[in-house]
Amino acid sequence: MGDPRHDAFPGCLIGQCVGDALGFIVEGQLDTVCRRYVDSVLGGAIGSHDPHGRIPDIHRGVFPFGQYSDDSQLAREMLISFRERGAFDPADYAKRIADLFARDAVVGGGRATRDAAARLAAGVPWTESGAPPPEAGNGSAMRAAPIGLMFHRRPAGELVRAASEQSRITHADSRCAGGSVAIAGAVRLAMTRGEIVPRRFLGELSAWVAPVDDTMADALARLADWITLPPERAVSFISRAGLPTGHRDMWVGISPYVVGSVLWALYAFLRSPDDFRTTLTTAVTVGGDVDTTGAMAGAISGARNGLNDIPWGIATRLNDQGAWTLDHLTALAEDCRTLVAA
Ligand SMILES: [Mg+2]
Repeated sequence: MGDPRHDAFPGCLIGQCVGDALGFIVEGQLDTVCRRYVDSVLGGAIGSHDPHGRIPDIHRGVFPFGQYSDDSQLAREMLISFRERGAFDPADYAKRIADLFARDAVVGGGRATRDAAARLAAGVPWTESGAPPPEAGNGSAMRAAPIGLMFHRRPAGELVRAASEQSRITHADSRCAGGSVAIAGAVRLAMTRGEIVPRRFLGELSAWVAPVDDTMADALARLADWITLPPERAVSFISRAGLPTGHRDMWVGISPYVVGSVLWALYAFLRSPDDFRTTLTTAVTVGGDVDTTGAMAGAISGARNGLNDIPWGIATRLNDQGAWTLDHLTALAEDCRTLVAA
């Protein structure tokens, strides 16, 4: 245990954006497709530390490689709100979510969040704007990492409350709040130097989540038994975690259901807590909702491992429709670090 490394804040935000941008290209695809793609990207010039290496022409629709999506746009927006307000302010953050959607600036946004943004824009207060249960997608967990940064020196109860509040803005289901607490809590734990012991790490997360949601807390506790399984076996347990027996959906790999996707991100991190690239590979090669598993796993691993370990060929290509590139993201994270330290 000890103080976080000096670049935990930018490591977390850039790590999230890199995982998101990598996964965004193959979101919804089969594991075989994702595996081939990740091997070629991380094994080639983009995955190297040479920003001038020749790269293949990779894009999704009109977006060139390096575009990150809603997951990281909304995480970034939370940090912008924090910098402006000097504290986590759910009402201000909710307004910013609504504004981003109103400007049609969100890339790959989910339906639940889009509908909540419309309710906010129509004047519904943030405490009542969230999608009602049983809607339980990962739309609030995928943007929760900054809460772990903001509250890493505060009592754990404050982190749990803030993570639950930020989730409630768009998702009223307690499983979503539980997923948000799990990701924010994982960032906080990952920032603390020292050995990561998966069972202890998951036990702590499960205890933080338990007052918020039983399903997510139970799933986190069970994940400790699946960490030692190889990915091709672990996915069959994790993709079904927290779902009724016999549940069927059209997704291969990991679906956008909050329990499975949060668990997969934690699995990817805890399999290789000191190796950003391996964590990213595990997060994205599983197939399915892999911009989000990449974003969440990248945020947690980046908080622990900092900027050095992040593939520079991806980081230097990060952008949001041409703006908010690496330098801007890094400056934002540094400003927030200064605020938290003050
Ligand atoms: Mg996305």
